[in-house]
Amino acid sequence: MTTHFYWWMNKKTMDTALGIIGYPIGHSMSPVFQQAALDACGVDAKYVAYQVSPDDVGEFVNGLRQSGILGINVTVPHKLAVMPFLDEIDDWATEAGAVNTIVNRQGRLTGHNTDGYGFLRALRDGADFDPRGRRILILGAGGAARGVVLALARDGIGDLTIANRTPERAEDLAQLARGRNVVAQAVPLSGDVLESAASTAELIVNCTTIGMTHGPGENETPLSGDAIPPTALVYDLVYNPLETRLLREAAQAGAKTLGGIQMLVYQGAASFEVWLERPAPVPVMLEAAIQAMQSRG
Ligand code: NAP
Repeated sequence: MTTHFYWWMNKKTMDTALGIIGYPIGHSMSPVFQQAALDACGVDAKYVAYQVSPDDVGEFVNGLRQSGILGINVTVPHKLAVMPFLDEIDDWATEAGAVNTIVNRQGRLTGHNTDGYGFLRALRDGADFDPRGRRILILGAGGAARGVVLALARDGIGDLTIANRTPERAEDLAQLARGRNVVAQAVPLSGDVLESAASTAELIVNCTTIGMTHGPGENETPLSGDAIPPTALVYDLVYNPLETRLLREAAQAGAKTLGGIQMLVYQGAASFEVWLERPAPVPVMLEAAIQAMQSRG
């Protein structure tokens, strides 16, 4: 990575450069929709994917200060590792314990986390759903579920049920929510208790990896279509495939649906807005992301 990075920094043909770091990084959709956004806005900048190994993270982040790079996204596995190298970390990132966006203003580096905000904005703008005061069922209790619970807790939701295969993790997350004045309970990811929680839920969010292409639960669903009420909105964070089995069965049950590509694009749009201090062209980004997903098959 180092050679490519310094080549890029020294090239300095553009006023602005942006990018993403991860390891590996080849699968990332961000270069596709971020470049589409830059081009649509007439910003003369290139968005570059940097494959940075865990050993090189500190050197890379410190190197940003002297570079022409205005900001970067940070993805797996570096979201925590970048934090000690930053000058300031915003509230969302502090609460999430992870940074997915770094802004470089004259060598001063600020860490942000736009995942939770992206989740909420996709909910509002993509599905016209206001979570305040609503009954919500979260499937899963991993990293994504934690971000979602923290974002929903900020918004003053009504009642939260967290269902997970490993019950202790669901209980830990429910406790986190209770600590933020949310009425929350943990249930198993199967059986009558789950079906009962689903039957009264106004929003069901899949934060498990079930349904993900190449994942262990590929072509499976964490919740049967029979258990989904037609009045619910079903939001699947999985974005590959674009239409998961959960979303297909939810639509067949008459429920509204929202795919994970929306959150992916809205978190990226929020990063774009932090870097460039201008509104992101979300429809352009969404179209570019969907087209790229379809062509990747
Ligand atoms: P994670 O931390 O590894 O958590 C995985 C979750 O899935 C855990 O709750 C785990 O349960 C559950 N799970 C995994 N395999 C299972 C199985 N066979 N049966 C039942 N439960 C199973 O992963 P993550 O970072 O939270 O990501 C979760 C999903 O969200 C991924 O598909 C990711 O791509 C997606 N995501 C999307 C966006 C977006 O922008 N759209 C953003 C972030 C994440 P246990 O606790 O029992 O292991």
